[in-house]
Amino acid sequence: MEALYSLPGCRVEHVERTGSATLLLVVRPEGIGARCPSCQIPSNAVHSSYVRHPADLPTAEHVVKLQVQVRRFFCRNARCPRRTFAERLPQLLSPRARRTRRLATAQCAAAVTVGAEAGARLLESLAMPASPDTLLRLMRRAPLPPHRGARVIGVDDWALHKGRTYGAILVDLEAHCVIHVLPDRSTSTLTAWLRRHPDVEVIARDRSTEYAHAAALGAPGAPQVADRWHLLLNGRQMAERWLAGAHARLRSLPSDMHVGASPARRHASFPRTHAEVRARHESREQHHPPSQGAEDALPARVQARKFTPLTVSDLTGGQLHATNSERFETLVREGLLPILKPHDVVVMDNISVHHRPAVEQLIRSRKARLLFLPSYSPELNPIESCWLKVKTRMRALGARTHLALCEAMREALASVRPQDAAAWFAHCSYPPQPP
Ligand SMILES: [Zn+2]
Repeated sequence: MEALYSLPGCRVEHVERTGSATLLLVVRPEGIGARCPSCQIPSNAVHSSYVRHPADLPTAEHVVKLQVQVRRFFCRNARCPRRTFAERLPQLLSPRARRTRRLATAQCAAAVTVGAEAGARLLESLAMPASPDTLLRLMRRAPLPPHRGARVIGVDDWALHKGRTYGAILVDLEAHCVIHVLPDRSTSTLTAWLRRHPDVEVIARDRSTEYAHAAALGAPGAPQVADRWHLLLNGRQMAERWLAGAHARLRSLPSDMHVGASPARRHASFPRTHAEVRARHESREQHHPPSQGAEDALPARVQARKFTPLTVSDLTGGQLHATNSERFETLVREGLLPILKPHDVVVMDNISVHHRPAVEQLIRSRKARLLFLPSYSPELNPIESCWLKVKTRMRALGARTHLALCEAMREALASVRPQDAAAWFAHCSYPPQPP
């Protein structure tokens, strides 16, 4: 029996089968006494005893529960604040734990490998059942693996409670792992951390002055470098602003597809994309009549219809305003409804003013259908195409220093030609317009 069930610090009295797949092991601690956890003085004066029922590792595909008889002893040390104490089984069980240490280790390992939900399903079949919440708790309690000193670190904001409480996350940029999350973003906290970690040789950061001061104070010898992600983010924002400002001018460029021809008229049909042509063929073959139903996706037959993109300036005679809910509703009522016919399909993106019930009612009152784009629709955003080209160019240039990166950014942005921009706008169904 002892050879089969080795329980550190305990001996097995007997084994009971309590169900078709469950075993109960009745066990007793081996020692005749125990040490008081406060004063460490041994005692063998038994006060009382009680039973604990922790789960243990499975045996022969059976779920195993222990029934441990735990004794409570008197502490005979007059100076000790404790009068009695329960004996501890440090190798087998944590105080008040409902599973043995070795079971917790096995369950935690499964959860770390496959995640809490999948881990719970896996452990059920391995006779070590645990709920996903329990597995999450075990993972949170597990000690972190030891980490060697980091040489190159990155520091950035980290949302502990998004929009409210922010800390600072420190990442080992060579090992690609998180080292620490500081409770706030202040200079003093980061300075103190850096002083405790003299191994740091390089600090990558955003342009926060707090982090700059902290790095200068806490690691004065470490060069501070701009985080590439932030440089790319800033580059993207610049490209967006440039494109937004250039939109009107780009719309007056001749279309790439009609070089030499007269500029296309506003509502003339423009060349269809391959996807649209394919969708039209499929639609013709299937002859599916339009029907209500799944409206959450953009069906192929809708893509195959004549597509007339309307912008705010189309509906307001060229005047542009910032959009708010009231303006948008007026726009739909006065600009869109007069030209809307039954069975037309109105496709909108997902900004909140588009989702007003009043807008939906107005559109449906004309017996038209309303579809929303998927929440992320890069295929209909010319900025995404532009950014893709800039990013691909930058990746090819492979800049690794600040200067080289600035130069690469300049070169990548310069590689965006006006024809490219016009083609992206046309591809996203913003047609070129005559000047
Ligand atoms: Zn004591």
